[in-house]
Amino acid sequence: MKTPAIAILATVISATLPLGAQEKKPLGYQDTPLIPGTNWHVHDGLRPQPKVVTPGEFGTQEKASTVPSDAVVLFDGKDFSKWRGKDGDAKWKVEGGVVEINKTGDVFTKDEFGPDIQLHIEWSAPVPPSGTGQGRGNSGLFFHGKYEVQILDCFENQTYPDGQATAIYGQTPPLVNASRAPGQWQTYDVVFNGPRFKDGQLVKPAFITIFHNGVLVQNHTELLGDTPHKQVGRYVPHPEKGAIKMQDHGNPVRFRSIWLRELKPVDSQ
Ligand code: MG
Repeated sequence: MKTPAIAILATVISATLPLGAQEKKPLGYQDTPLIPGTNWHVHDGLRPQPKVVTPGEFGTQEKASTVPSDAVVLFDGKDFSKWRGKDGDAKWKVEGGVVEINKTGDVFTKDEFGPDIQLHIEWSAPVPPSGTGQGRGNSGLFFHGKYEVQILDCFENQTYPDGQATAIYGQTPPLVNASRAPGQWQTYDVVFNGPRFKDGQLVKPAFITIFHNGVLVQNHTELLGDTPHKQVGRYVPHPEKGAIKMQDHGNPVRFRSIWLRELKPVDSQ
């Protein structure tokens, strides 16, 4: 029979052992109903565990955010080599921890991503501001090179609502205008669920959710199609993966931390 002191010691040792060395109890249940649409029971302990990801830290005006451990880094303040121009290398100006648009044309990721993506981007509109409406601090983030989330200096600068910052261009204005002043760093956190096509037909449209500076501005918005100027968008079938485009609209918008994560359901990771 254990003395109380030995019992306490055994408890302490057991609590300090690494997880794998402890006695394994089966997790959860298998005698519960199946969850419809899955092969898993309610509380099924055999279901795959979500992968462990170390989160990044939120940035400040002085400091860019850091990156989750499973993110694809598209720009870290120095290296812009994940991007190309229309013909050859991207020529946007990289200096002082930022990349700046310089009228050398749109840029595209060399790799293709999809169909479902989380994307983080930090940008800053030119100081002093110049131009009005669509002419002030204009760029854009295009999934598959064709579905535009507008980037525009909308701080005390009105334009048509479906063309303002975080609008699905030509379709859906943001819920609110969460813009910061020119020169301030702004963040977009975007979830893009790409459209699905089968046999040349649309079977599921694209959806976009966006937080602008932490404020929800697009709430799982369904896209009617691509985002042309002065026309209603429409879908033209394309592969599930595609390049991301950033627009050179002639304004020297600056960017720092840009990263994305491809999203996969836990059961298929
Ligand atoms: Mg634009």
